[in-house]
Amino acid sequence: MIVKMLHLLKKIFGTQQTRLVARYFRIVKKINEKAEELKTLTDDELRAKTTEFKERLKNGATTDDLLVEAYAVVKNVCRRLIGTDIHVSGYNQKWDMVPYDVQLVGAIGMHYGAIAEMQTGEGKTLTSAMPLYLHALTGKPTHLVTVNDYLAKRDAEWIGSIFKWLGLTVAVLTNDIPLEKRRAQYLADIVYGTASEFGFDYLRDNSMATTKEQQCQRGYYFAIIDEVDSILIDEARTPLIISGPSSVSRQMYDVLKDPVNEMVKLQRDECNKLASEARRVLEKLHLLEETTESSKLSKEDGIELEHALKKLWLVSKGTPINKILKRIRENPDLRAKLDALETYFWGDQNKEERLEALAKLYIIVDERNNEYELTDLGIKHWKGDPHAFTMLDLGYEYAIIDQSDLFTDEEKMQKKVELREADSHRKEVSHNVRQLFRAHLLMEKDVDYIVQEGKIVIIDENTGRAQPGRRFSDGLHQAIEAKESVAIQKETQTYATITLQNYFRLYARLAGMTGTAMTEAQELKEIYKIDVLEIPTNKKCQRADLNDEIYMTEREKYNAIIKELVEIHAKGRPILIGTETVEISEKLSRILKSHNLPHTVLNAKQNDKEAEIVAAAGQKDAITVSTNMAGRGTDIKLGEGVAALGGLHVVGTSRHQSRRIDRQLRGRSGRQGDPGSSKFYVSFEDSLMRLFASNKLTTILQKFRPPEGEAISAPILNRSIETAQKRIEQRNYTIRKHTLEFDDVMNKHRTEVYSFRNEILHTENLLPLSEEILETFCNTLSEPYFQNRLEENGWLPEEYRKALITHFPVTIEENAFSSEHLTLEEIETIAANLITTAFKDKVRREAEMVGIMQLMSGKEPNPLIIMQNIIRSLLIQSVDKHWQEHLLSIDHLRTEVSMRTVAQKDPLMEFKHEAFALFEKFSKKVRQDISHLLFSFGIAIPDNQELKKAISQVRIMGYPPALKLALAPLANK
Ligand code: ADP
Ligand code: MG
Repeated sequence: MIVKMLHLLKKIFGTQQTRLVARYFRIVKKINEKAEELKTLTDDELRAKTTEFKERLKNGATTDDLLVEAYAVVKNVCRRLIGTDIHVSGYNQKWDMVPYDVQLVGAIGMHYGAIAEMQTGEGKTLTSAMPLYLHALTGKPTHLVTVNDYLAKRDAEWIGSIFKWLGLTVAVLTNDIPLEKRRAQYLADIVYGTASEFGFDYLRDNSMATTKEQQCQRGYYFAIIDEVDSILIDEARTPLIISGPSSVSRQMYDVLKDPVNEMVKLQRDECNKLASEARRVLEKLHLLEETTESSKLSKEDGIELEHALKKLWLVSKGTPINKILKRIRENPDLRAKLDALETYFWGDQNKEERLEALAKLYIIVDERNNEYELTDLGIKHWKGDPHAFTMLDLGYEYAIIDQSDLFTDEEKMQKKVELREADSHRKEVSHNVRQLFRAHLLMEKDVDYIVQEGKIVIIDENTGRAQPGRRFSDGLHQAIEAKESVAIQKETQTYATITLQNYFRLYARLAGMTGTAMTEAQELKEIYKIDVLEIPTNKKCQRADLNDEIYMTEREKYNAIIKELVEIHAKGRPILIGTETVEISEKLSRILKSHNLPHTVLNAKQNDKEAEIVAAAGQKDAITVSTNMAGRGTDIKLGEGVAALGGLHVVGTSRHQSRRIDRQLRGRSGRQGDPGSSKFYVSFEDSLMRLFASNKLTTILQKFRPPEGEAISAPILNRSIETAQKRIEQRNYTIRKHTLEFDDVMNKHRTEVYSFRNEILHTENLLPLSEEILETFCNTLSEPYFQNRLEENGWLPEEYRKALITHFPVTIEENAFSSEHLTLEEIETIAANLITTAFKDKVRREAEMVGIMQLMSGKEPNPLIIMQNIIRSLLIQSVDKHWQEHLLSIDHLRTEVSMRTVAQKDPLMEFKHEAFALFEKFSKKVRQDISHLLFSFGIAIPDNQELKKAISQVRIMGYPPALKLALAPLANK
């Protein structure tokens, strides 16, 4: 039933897509007609179109109205550029492109805010020129987001020639552009740059800039994101963070690392012992030889086997990547038995037995969910801080203190403070320990990270690229540093952070392009509200996508791959081999070497040569090994004569967790109607199959185990692989959504604070804002004292008066608020007036002083500007300081709530709730702090006879005319 519905939905979805494409083709026809008309114009007349369009937009036309004409103009310019030398990436290249009709379709789609799915080599770079030009005509900020600096530069030079021809300005935003030059870059009509450059500039503008001149961005109108899946999906899991050294260090990795190492070793030894024992039994029973059938075992042997298997099961829970276990699982019979055992142990009726078995481990690792847990045995053998695993029950402890007669109130308070500190210390120890275990048990060297020049560098799990500069959050990075015995970096504190998702939501209009977005269409729609539009290819795709070859073991799989490589290489065809990890690309490289196959490796460790290597990958005889191709952004052109040989052959060494990444790899072959082929190899030892394929498969395999070295062919397998992939995609989507849901909570607060901060930076006269803050503070202060006039202690005007004078250096006469006729509102108004008047007096006094000093040193007096700047920097400093503290508490809150999952509470709800409370607290603190600061700043007056004389003179004689004028705005009304 569900299948049927999906099918139906797809059909509707499909027709919608085709209808839209058909409609766009009709617009293309109009564009082409218009482009023909424009042919007769002189270059200058064509150029003048830009001014004409701008004018029409000013007079009420919309970009929609101008689309046909603007696109026709761009197409016409392309035609006129043909044969022109364009300087790109260091050498001259002749312009040879006029947009194809399908490119116009993509360009229309992007104008209407879609993601254009266009295959590799279809020419997305040129396609984007049209919507960019059209939107830039509005004069509003128009950005093209690329995956790396190299492409930003290349595309801006290459496509920028169109914009320049038409009189628009283009700029590139690369990492090496110094901060003070960025403002000028952003002024350009169209800016090319990477997502992180744009994102970090946003964060800097809103958290580091202390004057509006230091801010470089000028808004967010239209952005096209190239390789959009790579940016909005793959990169979206780690937020952008600006951080600096933390004022207080809470990390204890140095001290805790040894006891964790020791525990991990205990576990590893224990599991090795169990695995060896099991193997001996299996050997004795001849079960490791492939022909023996277990049904022939005697009863005693059967029992012995049972024990051995249970040991192995335990090993899989303790050290899932144990070598012996891996070898044994190659045997389909035994694998099936182990899987059956897994099911057995999870049955409710076997819970006791499971718990008893697991109690023999120190740590239980849940590979599938990327989690682990210490057992009682583990805790018993723990040699580190004894409090690492026991938390204090603060409520209980407080109650005991409160009931005691032994302490004075003062002492009780002191005790509670001590307890709270002890509690937070324990939480920190426990957090550090958790991260260390995580580093040991779940993070793998050369898979999740590499060690490079004494540093831990993250590898992006999807693109296989090194991400220098980025760090795992939450202390995990430090924990890995401890594990690998490299220098542990100082703890840092977050100054500002945002997810890419939330950065891109700032744009009024967003579009994207990529070869692969269809599989993630739903997510893109849900989160960014953008549709994916599949654009037909210019020429029919000729690539032969061969069926997957599936093997029992990795060994057999690699043998088969090599066999095929040798055959295809002999014909001279270029081959591109995609691998999942750096480790595998290196392993494959060794195998290739041993077979004397010359090849080039492109992996995370050598990203700089990327473009060169990719460019050469289509030449005759070339063999290129690469970690995932997603987001690499360069297409592979075939060398001379290669098409005749059959074009580029693509080999996938495993199915990736995401179908999208597989499609990316495939798409490198068969561009623009070129011949080509692709094939994926899979083994049952691949992590995808090991972790996510169903048990049913194993059962099938038992029946169909082919002779060593032969591929298994069963159509059901292809479907199972896809199901496994879909399952993981879903899981990863959930993770990303989760990150976003947490950031969304923050986002509301961030937007509020940033807009407040911007108001401070951009408001010329800050006195009204300051007064407003003082008023609000006076009102908040009154709250506890005026609850109910009729109740005892419900109306305390004198207490309020006292509170005011403790916060502000003002005198308020006794009983100023005590009259029975005064309402709370009236009281608050009187208080606010008193305070703001005092504030204005203070500003006038200080300004006067500054003015006199300026006059004396012969300067034109401008005391007001100086006062404004002082107040501005006071406000900014206060906001920043408290916001950073707030971010730190939020970080801690996140860790805390994630530990609370045990208590069956929804961490997100908890987080929302408490983050809101924290933000309230933050706002109050900022208002109070600012209120204090507004009264406590003072201009330092030099101890100078002459100055003193001048001051007293002014007091007697009144202001000299220049000063009088300058202080006029502050005069008492
Ligand atoms: P994509 O990003 O879609 O993979 P690119 O924008 O990198 O593709 O373009 C691939 C190649 O196709 C480039 O070498 C480009 O010069 C060429 N190309 C794109 N559009 C055209 C066109 N209309 N006519 C001729 N060549 C084109
Ligand atoms: Mg591209």
